[in-house]
Amino acid sequence: MTLTTHKFDAVIIGGGGAGLRAALQLAESGAKVAVLSKVFPTRSHTVAAQGGIAAALGNVAEDKWLWHMYDTIKGSDFLGDQDAIEYMCKNAAKAIIELEHFGMPFDRLESGKIYQRPFGGMTQNFGEKPISRTCAVADRTGHAMLHTLYQRNIRANTQFLIEWFALDLIRDTEGDVLGVIALEIETGEVHIIQAKTTLIATGGAGRIFKASTNAFINTGDGLGMAARAGLPLQDMEFWQFHPTGIQHVGVLITEGVRGEGGYLVNSEGERFMERYAPHAKDLASRDVISRACTMEIKAGRGVGKNKDAVHLKLDHLGEERINKSLPGIREIAKTFANVDPVRDPIPIVPTCHYMMGGIPTNIDGQVVDTTGVVNGLYAVGEAACVSVHGANRLGSNSLLDLVVFGKAAGDHMAAAIKQNNTHKTLPANVAEATLTRIARLEKPNGENVTEVGDAMRDSMQTHCGVFRFPDEMAEGVAQIDAIAKRVPHITINDKSQVFNTARVEALELDNLIEVAVATMHSANARTESRGAHAREDFAERNDEKWLTHSLFYKENNTLRYKPVNLKPQTVESFEPKKRVY
Ligand SMILES: Cc1cc2nc3c(=O)[nH]c(=O)nc-3n(C[C@H](O)[C@H](O)[C@H](O)COP(=O)(O)OP(=O)(O)OC[C@H]3O[C@@H](n4cnc5c(N)ncnc54)[C@H](O)[C@@H]3O)c2cc1C
Repeated sequence: MTLTTHKFDAVIIGGGGAGLRAALQLAESGAKVAVLSKVFPTRSHTVAAQGGIAAALGNVAEDKWLWHMYDTIKGSDFLGDQDAIEYMCKNAAKAIIELEHFGMPFDRLESGKIYQRPFGGMTQNFGEKPISRTCAVADRTGHAMLHTLYQRNIRANTQFLIEWFALDLIRDTEGDVLGVIALEIETGEVHIIQAKTTLIATGGAGRIFKASTNAFINTGDGLGMAARAGLPLQDMEFWQFHPTGIQHVGVLITEGVRGEGGYLVNSEGERFMERYAPHAKDLASRDVISRACTMEIKAGRGVGKNKDAVHLKLDHLGEERINKSLPGIREIAKTFANVDPVRDPIPIVPTCHYMMGGIPTNIDGQVVDTTGVVNGLYAVGEAACVSVHGANRLGSNSLLDLVVFGKAAGDHMAAAIKQNNTHKTLPANVAEATLTRIARLEKPNGENVTEVGDAMRDSMQTHCGVFRFPDEMAEGVAQIDAIAKRVPHITINDKSQVFNTARVEALELDNLIEVAVATMHSANARTESRGAHAREDFAERNDEKWLTHSLFYKENNTLRYKPVNLKPQTVESFEPKKRVY
């Protein structure tokens, strides 16, 4: 079969905030850039971000980027790389002003300056007291940001390949990445996209869990592609469970609700966070609050028929304030929880929300393996692990991560293109393995995609949740390995499923399973508790042994480790210490 080949200076896989910020930088530098997205770009998960984007602007109270850096390092439970965190926090204010100049309609203070609200773990003067650092557009910040970036890209002549599904990276025998193989969903045709630089910006993979705040499209495709290309996945044991997902449906209620003064109560009406985090209370970091909610429920102080949720109360804020600052939340609570938060509390449970791990990169977005930089390949956003979030991300730091490192990667790619302006020759039979992978879906009598997917989601939910128990984890590894063996036998048996979307769903499971396997193995191997990884049998953090990033390789399910970078470039290191809120 001859496949159509397209040539670009840069191909960007993913049209979310990270991909679009990088694309803009490239297009404005004059590079020929294509953005590939399996959904219309403004439907990417970034659109769902509610609460805001952090930067030490100091519009509400005195603030410094160094304080933001300290909070982020502490939030990461000291697993974040301090040079990357320094870079992000130092460039945050500039990134916000830039977004504002692009036309993003930030909320305003009376003074006309950009409004800022408190968020968990964000403090003044190295933990002294909570600070308002998170800039917002009501509770629709991601929506505003994504649309702004999309429009700027249209203006800059970025080329969009919409509803194209990236399948596999093209890697030659020297290990260089030369582009991507993709499926045009509408026609079912497979194309080769040859590029001097390739960026993975495919977002998260929260759909490995049964209960998730993530969109159905968050299937870790970039991680699957990287794993199949022999690249490592870093820190995959660290998944953030957001304390406030709506019970039974998983839809997110932003931390901004607690930032505005909402708080959690148990069945006795007690504001229980005062016991778990006396200082920060409902604005402690997310891992701490999720564990507290889970413990209240386990102790029988849950609410509802089965006592398996807790309440988020915000009626005391008053209707006017709720309508002004949290209009989307009122709508979501009415639609998905059948309560009007102006009067009644919202039943919530900790729900899978964010992947701290991902494809390892340096500050310029270049993908790095243990042997060094992978030529031609970059990753940014939730798919990447640079690592600024370490073992636990602070709310509102992800949107910041997208724009700061999206720009950095775009700049580095533009310079690389200028320096080396030729395409390398593609390997022979470049798409063979990919075409075989797709063709297997047409065989008769295979496994069913929904059944295998449900088995994976059930297993992850049971064996790798907020708390991790030794026997359950060992069982989880065995189960996930067995489920992974079923995936290559998936076929599309149901002849009523004639659309390419059914193929895409099956191919997404090829990627989800890579993420699930990496997560279970990495979690089982890390015998300590740090950030979002809370083990019952190793309840303490162990810096002597585990102040280290894990790297999972698909080949033989191998784990390697690399040290955390504790050396910022312009300021003193923050030494690991006990983390209390
Ligand atoms: C409900 C919710 C609320 C949140 N609120 C906040 C918040 O207030 N503040 C904050 O800082 N963070 C928040 N986060 C986290 C943050 O929004 C995400 O981490 C971030 O938006 C991810 O951006 P991204 O660009 O990496 O990926 P995404 O926005 O997820 O975009 C991924 C892109 O990749 C494309 N893609 C994926 N696979 C393929 C493929 N195989 N082929 C082609 N294209 C592909 C998709 O089409 C999409 O365009 C929230 C997350 C959720 C789920």
